[in-house]
Amino acid sequence: MADVLVKETTNPYEIVKGQIRHACEALELPEIAYELLKAPKRFLEVQIPVRMDDGTVRLFTGYRSQHNDALGPTKGGIRFHPAVHPDEVRALSMWMTLKCSLLGLPLGGGKGGVVCNPKEMSERELEELSRGYIRAIAPIVGPEKDVPAPDVYTNPQIMAWMMDEYSRLEGRNVFGLITGKPVEVGGSLGRSEATGRGCVVTVARAAERIGLDLTRATVAVQGFGNAGSVAARLIAERGARVVAVSDSKGGIHAPGGLDVDAVLRHKRESGTVLGFPGAREIGNEELLTLDVDILIPAALENQLTAENAPRVRARIVGEAANGPTTPEADAILRRNGVLVIPDVLANAGGVTVSYFEWVQNLYNFYWTEGEVNQRLEEMMGRAFDRVYAMHRERGVSMREAADMVAVQRVYDAMKARGWLH
Ligand code: NAD
Repeated sequence: MADVLVKETTNPYEIVKGQIRHACEALELPEIAYELLKAPKRFLEVQIPVRMDDGTVRLFTGYRSQHNDALGPTKGGIRFHPAVHPDEVRALSMWMTLKCSLLGLPLGGGKGGVVCNPKEMSERELEELSRGYIRAIAPIVGPEKDVPAPDVYTNPQIMAWMMDEYSRLEGRNVFGLITGKPVEVGGSLGRSEATGRGCVVTVARAAERIGLDLTRATVAVQGFGNAGSVAARLIAERGARVVAVSDSKGGIHAPGGLDVDAVLRHKRESGTVLGFPGAREIGNEELLTLDVDILIPAALENQLTAENAPRVRARIVGEAANGPTTPEADAILRRNGVLVIPDVLANAGGVTVSYFEWVQNLYNFYWTEGEVNQRLEEMMGRAFDRVYAMHRERGVSMREAADMVAVQRVYDAMKARGWLH
């Protein structure tokens, strides 16, 4: 079992291919559907020369994967990380196809990456790398072709540099090239809260479906960063009692409920949630198996495993993080009647507001934060309903249902476009 786990968790390309094959088979699609979906339509490798601060020139390797654009231009983040690998970039672009399709967006799946360690680079070197990368992939990106966004170790500033460089090449402003930009240069209001907000919408729907009154529910949130802290704050606003949160240093537990805003202030001042007055300190492992109604993993992948899943007591798991549950843990949770809202659904708020940003850029007409949030809630709610209906009708897990809904929509588009004969 351990070998299987290691193999499954370290080979994302194999995992996503398996998911797509499984969905194609469950939907009884012709073999050509899987053949078209099992690899990216286009994959580009580039070399980027950067003059370093010490005067030497260093070559960096970058990738851009465009998996499937049957539904519209491809979309997906750019990762700057030493461990970026072409198969990982391929796999991430395939998950983006599923996520965009599931949410009903007119977008396909893409992803990019550069092998580098931004923590060891100066701001000037990082800017030169960002500009060099977008110049290298410029022939295949653009608002109507492929629209990148931030991912691990890339941020709004990097998006602004890339948009600026591409605009220079084109000789005009092209804000719609890329999303996740600062608000001053075409970024959308509401983007930074979107993932946590979307997650809470899906958790609230799930609670409704299983007859759990949110105002009486208790919640534990693992990870108190962008996704987790917003999810904790917004679920508390809906009346739930957040009894435990954690960060990389450990967790805190207060059965009577935590004042999430006060915990946020405490973390901002001290750098950690630990030491929050009136709360007991717990380990991250203990947090996952607390006696709560709702568990929101919002930190890292592979947190719920075959080892701890049997002890999970929550009735709903909302996967704000990407890949927090191993396949074995997933099967155990399902057997134990836990409703798992899969990552492609629960954390799709980010890409949904990225889509809104692109739309606003194309129209040059900007929405209020209230409009963004309202549209986000509508789209997340509809996506949840589609997945839940498939889950009930076909007797499959929410994760299988999400993959099936997503693959079916891409298949229908490919069929309508005449790609299957
Ligand atoms: P972040 O860096 O803002 O926050 C991560 C948090 O996890 C931090 O509080 C960190 O201290 C904590 N953490 C790290 N190791 C931990 C551990 N072992 N146990 C408990 N906590 C730990 O990152 P984020 O943007 O909030 O992303 C969190 C997850 O959500 C990731 O899986 C990411 O892929 C996913 N996600 C985020 C977005 C988004 O828009 N931010 C969108 C989709 C998915």
